[in-house]
Amino acid sequence: MKNILITGGTGFIGSHTCLLLLEKGYNVFIIDSYINSSENSLKKVLEILENKKQSVRKKLYVIEGDLKIKSDIDKVFQSSIKVNKSIDAVIHFAGLKSLSESINEPLKYWENNVVGTINLLKIMEKYNCKTIVFSSSASVYKAKSDKLLKEDDICEPVNPYGYTKLTIERILCDLYKSYPSHWRIASLRYFNPAGAHYSGLIGEDPFGNPNNLYPQITKVAIGKLNEIKIFGSDWGTKDGTGIRDYIHVMDLAEGHLSALNHLLKEKPQNLTINLGTGKGTSVLELIKIFEKVNSIDIPFSFDKRRQGDKAFVVADISFAKLKLNWEPKFSIEDICRDGWNWQLNNPNGYLN
Ligand code: NAD
Ligand code: UDP
Repeated sequence: MKNILITGGTGFIGSHTCLLLLEKGYNVFIIDSYINSSENSLKKVLEILENKKQSVRKKLYVIEGDLKIKSDIDKVFQSSIKVNKSIDAVIHFAGLKSLSESINEPLKYWENNVVGTINLLKIMEKYNCKTIVFSSSASVYKAKSDKLLKEDDICEPVNPYGYTKLTIERILCDLYKSYPSHWRIASLRYFNPAGAHYSGLIGEDPFGNPNNLYPQITKVAIGKLNEIKIFGSDWGTKDGTGIRDYIHVMDLAEGHLSALNHLLKEKPQNLTINLGTGKGTSVLELIKIFEKVNSIDIPFSFDKRRQGDKAFVVADISFAKLKLNWEPKFSIEDICRDGWNWQLNNPNGYLN
């Protein structure tokens, strides 16, 4: 069975992907600095698997380390060799992701996301590991009014965070071109990940106040925030509020597995692929669906538009379907149910 390094594996998407890979029998190595996460997420991942009578303790190796420090990454590759499971491929989630923080602290974002990735790629080269699935983002695109976004559409980020993602895609592209017959690369552009594993044992646990809409809705539902402030009611959409493509985090995890398997079995290539659902949901619709599915009120009020915001960001997912034979299985109702189940069972996230 293949040995996979997951950077940022204790975070929101990383922990759900780690669960899926362990379930499928992969050996999983994790490097995480815990700058935005808790190692308790992995304890819960093990609990979910043990509840299913799957013992995977000998398949999971966790190392605290920072991608900004090359020797930390080296240590993970060394430890994989020591246990005779040298790393075959990397799923690279580790990164900082707050759009607003990236505007206030751009150097922190460039250093963490871009320097961290360059360090990772150098160490991968050193150990002749040349397969990588990278977490990119829909924030690289220039928005189109009401058209689905395709991978070859114009990219024009509006904040440093988006630029770090686009820059990393560029670096990966250059790297691929430098050794076309070596590297296997997939940059996956996620739309709006949300929801949680159905068990309610793992989910999204942002440090501090979340910026994103979905975790704010669950925080209002649990009573930690008073209301949702809707950023703008005049966006020129069907109800005037912003439209996004919310994708269940387990669908996203499956997307990573499909991309990984595709890369491992096909010839070297460099792919850029949208992972979304192709369906748009407005802010008001999301609030209403959450209220209906969970029988709970979500108070809201209208506020002014957020700087740099977009009206409509929804994926065209035909390339993912074609190339990876992947498509999302969960609905927006599932996202609302599972995300609330996690929040309700863990009002304080992983601090419980
Ligand atoms: P997250 O913050 O929950 O997880 C990121 C993980 O990376 C955390 O565990 C954090 O501690 C770790 N990390 C950050 N910098 C590190 C470093 N230098 N060294 C080691 N570990 C480090 O975020 P997430 O939602 O799981 O997102 C995962 C990836 O997907 C990120 O790269 C993010 O930019 C990207 N992404 C997320 C979204 C989203 O809305 N969640 C959307 C598009 C893209
Ligand atoms: N949004 C909002 N109030 C909030 C946070 C977000 O109205 O407190 C809106 C935002 O304007 C956008 C949608 O919710 O239309 C999704 O925003 P989010 O930040 O979650 O994702 P992104 O804009 O990065 O896709």
